[in-house]
Amino acid sequence: MSKAVCILGATGSIGENCLAVIDKLGGRFEVAALAARSNADRLIARARACGAKKISLADCQALRDIPGEKLAGLEVGCGPDSLVDLARLPNVDIVVNALVGAAGLAPSVAALESGKRLALANKESLVMAGPYLMRLAAEIRGAEIIPVDSEHSALFQLIRNQPPQELNKIIITASGGAFRGYGRERLEKVTFSESLNHPTWSMGPKITVDSATLANKGLEVIEAHCLFGLDYENIEVLVHPQSIIHGMAVLRDGSVLCHMGVPDMRLPIQYALTFPERLPTGIGSPDFTRIGKLTFEPVDKMNFPCLALAYEAGRKGGVATAVYNAANESAVESFRKEKISFVGIPLVIEKVLARAPQVNNPSLEDIFEADRWARDFAAGLKL
Ligand code: NAD
Ligand code: MG
Repeated sequence: MSKAVCILGATGSIGENCLAVIDKLGGRFEVAALAARSNADRLIARARACGAKKISLADCQALRDIPGEKLAGLEVGCGPDSLVDLARLPNVDIVVNALVGAAGLAPSVAALESGKRLALANKESLVMAGPYLMRLAAEIRGAEIIPVDSEHSALFQLIRNQPPQELNKIIITASGGAFRGYGRERLEKVTFSESLNHPTWSMGPKITVDSATLANKGLEVIEAHCLFGLDYENIEVLVHPQSIIHGMAVLRDGSVLCHMGVPDMRLPIQYALTFPERLPTGIGSPDFTRIGKLTFEPVDKMNFPCLALAYEAGRKGGVATAVYNAANESAVESFRKEKISFVGIPLVIEKVLARAPQVNNPSLEDIFEADRWARDFAAGLKL
């Protein structure tokens, strides 16, 4: 029996890779529903290609100029709630959340509440509401979170069967992003388009900028804390420019387990779909003689303060991680619009975090409220 999949964010980098993986697995999975923000033509084309019968666009305006005949045979929804409806569809087994940003949270909640496997690329939803989502996954029958983020997929594979008392710490690797090795003076001048040149991964624009500031690693540290339950002092980040080792588990006896693979998101996407089974991907494994060297460096915490700010938010807990995420999203948007410089991004996060009201054990409503507050506050900041 094939499993039915709903892909949210189907026109993005992860979404399209996911469609390619499903296509290659031929018949094991069927695509029931697809969603995106506003690119209706592309979404319709993807739905026709994979046979999905239901589509949703977050932006209703995007459907305005689409002639009726283009939509023939499709069930079409629009608005943010329509994505939540897709995540709840009774005939869907797996929801792939490949949305970008805070828009991913409500669909993540819906998928888990309806007892589905959540193949989670949208790390922002865990960063905003990790304890809430983990509780749903533990309490609701059938609900589970399988990480798609490459480092977390690696760590999930490494430590799944590791007794917790034998695990000393985990190490998340970082490529270092577009500006690895840059000093303060050069960073002050970098542009948005320069920050889109990622050395090893091809990804959507927001996560690529986050990789350049190291906010992406910050989000990933919080994501790992939520997924694996480790204290922040037992989660480390190590710069590894080749992106071959994705995660390491340091065990009680000093042994270190590493997960390696070519930097290709189709690997962790497929694993999240087929887990616990492992199937061929046709991607191959790293060619070590050609790669020659695997190198490691410490993180430059001075010039890339977004990582330390994420640890600070994570240790505060409550709504602080949602505030960190919202401040970062807002700052990246301001950087894109050239309202602030690259080095302004951590400044915005720092200022917003410093003023954020603390709420412990937040409800989902508290989290959404903190998200709104942080965006408003960040937008009004004068640097
Ligand atoms: P992307 O920008 O390429 O695609 C985002 C998708 O989400 C698009 O389909 C877009 O239409 C949709 N979308 C964006 N905003 C939306 C909104 N407000 N409402 C509804 N739909 C919306 O992004 P991506 O690189 O594929 O990343 C997706 C998620 O996966 C992010 O959370 C990212 O951090 C995570 N991730 C990506 C990669 C990667 O290799 N691209 C790796 C690890 C984790
Ligand atoms: Mg990652």
